Amino acid sequence: MKYPCLEVDLKKIEENTRFIVDKCNEKGIKAFVVSKVYCAYKEIAGASLKGGAYGIADSRIQNLEKVKEFDCPKLLLRIPMKSEVEDVVRLADISLNSEIETIILLDEEARKQGKVHKIILMIDLGDLREGVWFQSIDTIVEDILKLENIKLHGIGTNLTCYGGVMPDDENLGRLLEIKNEIEDKHNITLETVSGGNSSSLYKVLNDTMPEGINMLRIGEAIVLGRETAYGDLIEGMHEDAFVLKGEIVELKKKPSVPIGTIGMDAFGNKPTFEDRGEILRAIVAFGRQDVNPDGIEPLDENIDILGASSDHLLMDVTNSLKELRVGDILEFKVDYGALLNVSTSEYVNKVFK
Ligand SMILES: *Cc1c(COP(=O)(O)O)cnc(C)c1O
Repeated sequence: MKYPCLEVDLKKIEENTRFIVDKCNEKGIKAFVVSKVYCAYKEIAGASLKGGAYGIADSRIQNLEKVKEFDCPKLLLRIPMKSEVEDVVRLADISLNSEIETIILLDEEARKQGKVHKIILMIDLGDLREGVWFQSIDTIVEDILKLENIKLHGIGTNLTCYGGVMPDDENLGRLLEIKNEIEDKHNITLETVSGGNSSSLYKVLNDTMPEGINMLRIGEAIVLGRETAYGDLIEGMHEDAFVLKGEIVELKKKPSVPIGTIGMDAFGNKPTFEDRGEILRAIVAFGRQDVNPDGIEPLDENIDILGASSDHLLMDVTNSLKELRVGDILEFKVDYGALLNVSTSEYVNKVFK
């Protein structure tokens, strides 16, 4: 085994997906699994498909390329770059859009590839990330409907990610009103109303999701077992499908406060230290190049992370449950940011069980 490694329990991913998919299906909602946080490793996305996910959604085209063999709908989450429309039409069945210039390019490319590309028009309901501002959607719909190789599959929104705006009856209700207005005005039916990400899930779980929202795009809840409006763990889900493991390369009794004049650390900060007397210190062989140490937590609650430089994680293991030796492996929980980091780091080995 090579360390550091990220160990992924595929059974837990499958079960987490099944949990979410069942709740969503009861309410007539299609659940796309969002694979970006784990860089769309096929093994993990495949486990979610086994768990019943309707399709795979990702913000990066390279990630959709990795999962192209799966026979399911693929959704591109990030507003497409003009420079990537060829790949978007080739690899995504549906993309989220907000710019008519790009949609026109997608139409031209779809014609070349002999396809009809589906788009979901993103509406900004106030969170101020992507989307057409909710008071000014009129002309863009008209322009989209003129395009022969683009199908307006529906409308959608993204909340909480930037502005922290919570999905509620008011903003999701507004999304549904906009859907009705578009349908009436242009005499069309919109198949999809995509009501957000893991932060919308609480409304499914407590049965307050407005009727008509029929798609969600779920990442964090499936991977870490928590909804993200309140940050609560979801009972019945696994929060530990991902475990980060690192190897101890040095283990020594030393003081807890450095000796000498304190200048700046490797990152230009002036460090401060809590005097714990003499402690048993472990160096684990990974560091900030792989993960922000603030986003990880040892599974053994009796040991503490003291800090990290690029390649070294420093720990106080004085009270470790286990008697430790050089070469032993320490295990850590990861939060969303840490999972993003370690998935992306080529130095972290990925292991599936
Ligand atoms: C990342 C992303 C999601 C998934 O968000 P989670 O909070 O991980 O569920 C959904 N939609 C869009 C547009 C995204 O960028």
